[in-house]
Amino acid sequence: MNIIIMGAPGSGKGTQAVMICKAHKIPHISTGDLLRKNIADGTELGKQAKTYMDAGKLVPDELVVALIEDRLKADDCKNGFLLDGFPRNKAQADVLGKIVKTDVALYLDTDLNKIAARMASRRVCPKCGYSTSAELAKDGKCKECGETLIIRDDDKLEVVENRLKVYAEQSAPLIEYYKAKGVLVTVNGNQTIDDVYADIEAALK
Ligand SMILES: [Zn+2]
Repeated sequence: MNIIIMGAPGSGKGTQAVMICKAHKIPHISTGDLLRKNIADGTELGKQAKTYMDAGKLVPDELVVALIEDRLKADDCKNGFLLDGFPRNKAQADVLGKIVKTDVALYLDTDLNKIAARMASRRVCPKCGYSTSAELAKDGKCKECGETLIIRDDDKLEVVENRLKVYAEQSAPLIEYYKAKGVLVTVNGNQTIDDVYADIEAALK
């Protein structure tokens, strides 16, 4: 089963992606991880991507598409895959459509105001990467290693709100695109992790 997962930053998309991949034994392909891995491995595509990232620029569509195309050729994608963070726009979706068939485009429909509030309450451990919320970590310390938790710059409210605005503008045409193809599955993302997952599994069956 070839699945695409779409959802705003902070919608819990990554968590759901991990759960789906584990249950269906398919690889979780995230553009971010793929970029990091190619850069770490020093591949030709990774080197090219790095020059853009070092300059603080977005990695161009063609390069991201080349990375994804290369990854989808791997053996572990034979029985399906889950794409997370790709396609990001209609142009990428068109290119992807030429490479592989998408069986399901999952869209986690989440209240953006709630996401903004949730993201702004996120606290991370600068030492071990443990992530939690201000509500859960009342003492402000990492449960794993005891370090003082911080708010990442990315999680500051104005930054979050801007990212969500950009996301909403970019994703609307993408959602329409997959709807028109008859593969869009919209799941209510304003639920607990387990309830969202139960809805996803019900839809995939
Ligand atoms: Zn820690």
